[in-house]
Formats: sequence, C-alpha cells, structure tokens
Amino acid sequence: MNNGIGKLKEWAEAYGEDLCVLSGEPMSRHTSFRIGGPAALFLIPQTQEAFCAAIRQAHETEARFFVLGNGSNVLFDDAGFDGAVIATSALDGITFDGELLTAEAGASLSAVCKTARDASIAGLEFAYGIPGSVGGAVVMNAGAYGGEIKDVLAESVAFDPALGEIVRLSLDEHAYGYRDSIYKHTERIVLAASFRLVPGDRGEIGAKMNDIAGRRVAKQPLEYPSAGSVFKRPEGHFVGQMVEESDLKGYRIGGAEVSEKHAGFIVNRGSATSRDVLALVEHIRDVVRKNYAVELECEIIHVK
Ligand SMILES: Cc1cc2nc3c(=O)[nH]c(=O)nc-3n(C[C@H](O)[C@H](O)[C@H](O)COP(=O)(O)OP(=O)(O)OC[C@H]3O[C@@H](n4cnc5c(N)ncnc54)[C@H](O)[C@@H]3O)c2cc1C
Repeated sequence: MNNGIGKLKEWAEAYGEDLCVLSGEPMSRHTSFRIGGPAALFLIPQTQEAFCAAIRQAHETEARFFVLGNGSNVLFDDAGFDGAVIATSALDGITFDGELLTAEAGASLSAVCKTARDASIAGLEFAYGIPGSVGGAVVMNAGAYGGEIKDVLAESVAFDPALGEIVRLSLDEHAYGYRDSIYKHTERIVLAASFRLVPGDRGEIGAKMNDIAGRRVAKQPLEYPSAGSVFKRPEGHFVGQMVEESDLKGYRIGGAEVSEKHAGFIVNRGSATSRDVLALVEHIRDVVRKNYAVELECEIIHVK
C-alpha cells in the first residue's frame, strides 16, 4: 500500500460513522460487469460533507482515487486498484421545487425518473432504465431514445479538489458533447444536479417509461452482466450492424462474449476477466478496422 493510501486509510478510520471504510473490497461486487479485483481502500461517505472531506484528504495526501457511481460504465482491472475508490452510493437524496428536480450524485437515474413521474413532471423519461447514477450520467452525458442529459440539465454542483471548494456549473459550462463533458477533463466531482423539467400527465409519463423499459428488455442482453454499449457510435455507422455483419455475434474470448442479442454489447458469461474483455475489445476493433476502415473508440472506462 503506497504512503498516500496508508495516510488516507488512517484518516478515514478515525473520521467516524459518516464514512464507511473497507479494505481489499472486490470491485466485481460494485460493477455491472461483475469484474474487477480488490480496491486497496473503498470508502462510502454517508453525507456530502464526508464525501468532500474524503476527496480533500485524498488530494492532500496525494493518494490515487477514483469516484464510483453505480459502476455501470467501468471495467476494473483483474489486478484491482491500488488507490481509494470513493463511492457516491449513499448520497441519494432527491428533492423538487416545482418543475426543478434536484438529485444527489449517487441517486439512481431510474429512481429520479420515478420521482419525476410521481410528481407529474416530464422530460426525463428517456433516461429510465439507464443503470447509472446521476453523477455518472452528468459526467457521461448519458442518453437514450432521443434524449441526452444535456437536454434537461439546469446546473450541477461540484467539489473542486484543487480549490478545495464547492462550485456551481451552469449548463453551458458543462461543454457537453457525445458521451463527453467538462467533468471528463477536470478533477471536479459532481455532488448534485438539477434538471429543468415540464409539467406532464402522470399516466402518460409512466406509459412512456414502460415503453422504453420494454424496448430495453427486448433489445439488450439484460440477463447477463455487462457495461452497456462498448463503443461510441462512429459518424455514419452503426457499431452493432458492423459487428454483426463481421460474424462476431457470439464470438468469445474466455468468459467474455459478443452478445447474441445485441452485437454492440460484450457480456460476462460468468467467469470473464478484464483481460478477456480487453482482448475481445481489441479483436472487434481489428476486425471492424479491416472490414470497414472504421476506428472504434471504447466508451467503457478501464480502471487500473
Ligand atoms: C445494461 C446497460 C445499459 C446501458 N444503457 C445506456 C444507455 O442507454 N445510454 C447511456 O448513455 N449509457 C448506458 N449505459 C452505460 C452507463 O449506464 C452510463 O454511462 C451511466 O451514465 C454511468 O453511470 P454510473 O453511475 O454507473 O457511472 P460509473 O460507471 O460509476 O462511472 C462512470 C464515470 O463517471 C465518473 N463518475 C461517476 N460519478 C461521478 C461523480 N459524482 N463525479 C465525477 N465523476 C463521476 C467515474 O469516475 C467514471 O469515470 C448502460 C450500461 C449498462 C450496463
């Protein structure tokens, strides 16, 4: 364990009940891929104050750290992570003021969608079923079925470790692009986000959400662990179509398999390692490059 992590661990263990501290926690337990070795330190802050304190401390001690949302877009290495994983899972508050809904970073997108439906406010239906947290969705500009986070976000509140301060970012300051935001290029960490929604009919909102959930079940291999679409959509092409036409559906390396149901997904058939997944990613990229002269870019974040 490196020196920074040792100091961070000592500090965390003395912090008190608002910070759960685990050592050697397998990341396979906290990721939708069900893959990943142990994190040297795994912290679960119970309040925003404890969360900011942990980030500040990690920054000051120069310990490596990684902020984990719901773990649905990450591939942790088999060797694990020799730093601290700081999870947002306990920060799951949701409030609304008229049509402005505010959620903490760890709230699940689906819980946020249900809260909006129950309050008869519309606009977030597209996000129902994306298995991420609010923080992960704001960072990744998550999107589906014609909507993206950037279409509904009003602002986010973040902790800036370099300044040691909480800052507010307006929509424009997010510099949103396809699965991209300013958060992917700075150290700032999302604490909460507000969404500007519109009045709607509860029944109609619910029907739209159910329709989207049904389409996901029909098209996506939700019966197996995965991290969703593996690659970003290249201009003018469909990844699933190229992979399918290349006869790669069902292609397997170790326990990692190109889904039979949706060729844009790699699924864990039970015993996949990160090495299997990475080898399969490279194989797909090679084949698609050869067949279509298209360079695929991985959307899943490899943490090592
Ligand atoms: C079955 C399945 C279907 C999916 N469908 C879709 C889809 O339709 N559309 C889509 O866009 N995505 C989809 N995804 C991918 C994934 O759910 C999204 O990218 C989601 O937004 C990731 O959120 P998360 O909380 O799981 O983030 P994580 O996987 O935990 O983290 C992703 C990145 O965000 C960072 N991060 C997380 N929280 C914070 C924070 N509070 N502050 C700063 N950085 C943070 C992490 O450090 C990491 O870099 C799917 C995944 C699966 C498994």
